Formats: sequence, structure tokens, C-alpha cells
Amino acid sequence: MRSQLLSRSSAHAATAAPRCLTRATRALRLTRVMSAAAQPVSSTVELKPEVAHKLRTAEAVCFDVDSTFCEDESIDELAAFLGVGEQVAALTAKAMGGTVEFKEALRTRLGVMKPTRADVDRFLREHPHRVTKGIPELVSLLRSRGQEVFLVSGGFRQIIHPLAESLGIPLSHVFANSILFDSEGHYAGFDESEFTCRSGGKPAAVRHIKDKYGYSNVVMVGDGATDAEARVEGAASLFIGYGGVVVRKNVAEKADWFIMDIQQMIDVLKSGCCGNCRK
Ligand SMILES: [Mg+2]
Repeated sequence: MRSQLLSRSSAHAATAAPRCLTRATRALRLTRVMSAAAQPVSSTVELKPEVAHKLRTAEAVCFDVDSTFCEDESIDELAAFLGVGEQVAALTAKAMGGTVEFKEALRTRLGVMKPTRADVDRFLREHPHRVTKGIPELVSLLRSRGQEVFLVSGGFRQIIHPLAESLGIPLSHVFANSILFDSEGHYAGFDESEFTCRSGGKPAAVRHIKDKYGYSNVVMVGDGATDAEARVEGAASLFIGYGGVVVRKNVAEKADWFIMDIQQMIDVLKSGCCGNCRK
């Protein structure tokens, strides 16, 4: 198993630290992982030197949006805004747990919500994005290093595009779903050609990014089972699980590195590891 849910003590972990790990990365070993049911999992996830190296040398980093890039879970929040929050939250939980075919879950949720164009516009005005702490700095840092930033989300372009624009991310770097409206602005389905409307969509989007731009080393960061798929299926070189909003044990177990704070990525990028990955 790539990820290491370590049962050994932090003292042992510290003594076993490879020489090229920095003080910051050594401290990150102490990240505590809680299960989705909030039961303590007395373990840590070790940042391996090769994982730090891949992060520092990646040509691009792809972020999930809901509960990763932002603290929001936007589909649920749009549903609550439309008065159908409980039904849609239950469907989202099933989709994130990987137990329901994603396209059907999306179709069912949108069928319950039936958002109009005016609904979405009003939602955006009344619910500005809550960008996750550290994300603006991380995006700037990555781009200053020549590492491109992409957003790969099962959420909606109508909600994500303003966020991307606010952080200087080109809309061509956004892969997400599109709600369709008829000429009067009524709900008219969704664009079924988008990568992320279907199960396996995130690895497909990452493969597309690699092919289009000629990348060989792309990192995926996210909180959900669909994000972990991007690594399990071999598209991404690395999967970093993010648990700052919600922790899912099944996701943590699949992660090359599991973090609770975006600052951990910033620290690794700013620190030198070895001569080969100092950029
Ligand atoms: Mg998410």
C-alpha cells in the first residue's frame, strides 16, 4: 500500500526519518487522521521523500474544489438554498462514498433541484466562495514555480468559474459540470460530454490534461473517493488527500500523503529536499 497509516510511535517515526526530510516535513508526520465517523485512528501518514520530490517537480497540480479548494460543498449548499437540502445531501454522500454511479447521482440531484439560471445567479450573489485557508498562497507559489494549477470538480462551472477567475486560473484549466438552461433560463439538464459527470471522470480529466499539455507528472489533491481514483487508476503520479474540511478514512488509506492543512504543501514546496528537486 502506497500510503502509510503508521501505527508506530511518533518518536520512532522521528528517529527513522530519512536525512533529506526537512524539519517541516518531519513535523508533518504527526498529522493525525480521524475516520469519517470521527473515530480516532491512532495513526499518522508519513511524507516519504519520493512523494515530496514528486510534488516539487510536478508539472501541474489538480485540485478538487468542494471541501478541498473551498470549504463549501457547493451542490449541497445550492440544494439547501433551493429548499431540497436533505434529499440532495444524502445523494451526495452516496456519490462521494463511491457507491452510486456518478452520472446517475448527478442526474437525480439536479432533477430534485431543477435550478434556474436566476437561482444560480442569486446563489452566487448570496453565497460567495469560502476559499480554503492557504489556497491563494499555494496557487501563487505553484505558478511562480512554473507549476500549473487545474481545478477538476464534480461541481458546476457556473459556480467554479468566478472562483477560478478570482485566483487567476484560466477557465481552460477548469474541468467541471455544466448545468444547461433553456432559452427562458429554466433547468434543461447537464452537459453529458464533461469528463466529471461520470464515474471515472477525474482520472479521465487528468489523463486528458497530461496528453494535451505533454505532462508526465501531475498531482491530484482532494478529499473524496473520486479524487483518489485519479491516482489508483494511474493518471496522477501522486494523490494528496486533504482532510481539513472532512476526513474520509477510505480516502486517507489511498493517499500517498494525507494532510489536514494546505500550509503543509506550502512548507514542502518552500523547503529544499535534495539537489534533484530544488527548483
Ligand atoms: Mg471534494
